[in-house]
Amino acid sequence: MEIPAPLRLRVDRDALVSNWQAMDRMSGAAACGAAVKANGYGLGATLVAQTLAGAGCRDFFVANWAEALALAPLGLTLSVLHGLRAEDMAAAMAGFARPVLSTPEQVARWREGGGGACDVMVDTGINRLGVSVQAVADGLLDGLAIETLISHLACADEDVPMNARQQAAFAGLKGRTRARRMSLANSAGIGLGADYHFDLTRPGLALYGGIPRPDMAGPLRQVARPEAQILQRRLVPAGETVGYNATWTAPADTEVAILNLGYADGYRRALSGRGAARADDVVLPVLGRVSMDLVAVDVTARPDLAEGDWLAMDYDLAAASAASGVSQYELLTGLGQRFGRG
Ligand SMILES: *Cc1c(COP(=O)(O)O)cnc(C)c1O
Repeated sequence: MEIPAPLRLRVDRDALVSNWQAMDRMSGAAACGAAVKANGYGLGATLVAQTLAGAGCRDFFVANWAEALALAPLGLTLSVLHGLRAEDMAAAMAGFARPVLSTPEQVARWREGGGGACDVMVDTGINRLGVSVQAVADGLLDGLAIETLISHLACADEDVPMNARQQAAFAGLKGRTRARRMSLANSAGIGLGADYHFDLTRPGLALYGGIPRPDMAGPLRQVARPEAQILQRRLVPAGETVGYNATWTAPADTEVAILNLGYADGYRRALSGRGAARADDVVLPVLGRVSMDLVAVDVTARPDLAEGDWLAMDYDLAAASAASGVSQYELLTGLGQRFGRG
């Protein structure tokens, strides 16, 4: 039995491709890959990877081996950013993805296991994952068959001196290993200019319609559009309230639609009283608290909308982030499992 979902996530594949092409152009001579970890930032990793591979993307990044395994049937070039635990060795030796080694222990594990081509993460200041620049200088990676030497920027979305310091530390490793390519920039890093592009860039956020830096907004298009079905339409008389804790009081008789969408679906509670649905070009503001599974919107302006109709939520990431204080990354990756995706 198939039960049609009462909420769906529209993924605009044309916009996804167009955003990747924009990042590819901005990456200049460097190749442009794609970060598809966390289920393609919530949009569906298989759908995203398949679409971008069709557009010419050749390098895909996931966080862990389960994510790589899920994409293995596509036959793409995958790198696993979280490296190689002892528990991952069997999967890594199966050859469907490369580990991004990030500790001396992992390097030793890979060498002892007889692993082939790998990637390596070098820490140039974020102090998250990665071997130290000093360890590389001391020969930790000598003889290792490295496909891509990777580092990651801490503050690429800000104009701060740390960016140039990380760039210089990474550039200093040129020629120090046998790495075929070097890769530093995430989405925001692409916007920092040619010095940051090296041989391969790794955008995530921008592909999905996030705006990594205000100066990169121009070509980027919205990709993800949550839609929800109206479960009930009701008249709320002037003076009555809507939702938990009665935070909204009707100033006049108001027509209200209750939608099948809530914070359990990633439609964040911080959008209470701030978000909106949209019917054609009419804005239908969210009234009161977002509940776990429901949200109320003002449909006074649209007498035609009825039970069973679908409404698209405003989900421009930069605007929704500014309105709610929730990061664009969280607005994407929080989109839940109850959506029909496509
Ligand atoms: C997530 C991630 C990216 C992509 O970052 P965005 O800011 O989403 O473009 C690139 N590189 C690494 C190592 C990452 O963890």
